[in-house]
Amino acid sequence: MRTIPIIASATAPRAAARRWWLKRAYGITPEQYNAMFKRQKSRCAICREKVPYRLGVDHCDLTKVVRKLLCVPCNTGIGSFKHRPALLRRAAKYLEREAARARRARMSGR
Ligand SMILES: [Zn+2]
Repeated sequence: MRTIPIIASATAPRAAARRWWLKRAYGITPEQYNAMFKRQKSRCAICREKVPYRLGVDHCDLTKVVRKLLCVPCNTGIGSFKHRPALLRRAAKYLEREAARARRARMSGR
């Protein structure tokens, strides 16, 4: 029965560090993170994928309000578009327009 205290002593500092970090960076507790994770059914709020790592806490840079938990590609993706919905919509329209153009070109044999 020596393993239990050893595991506890090895993980306790990490759990405490995580608690400190979540509070400092996002103002939430690990319990709140876990509740969000459960509400999202363990999936990224955008792509709905399950990932083999902990989802990131997405928050508004200005208000610091926590939004949802996101995978790394989705979190960095919206960051690349400066968290601006209008830019993201424009990018989506661009992709749809270009895909339609490519289909038309394929159908006309060009
Ligand atoms: Zn995602």
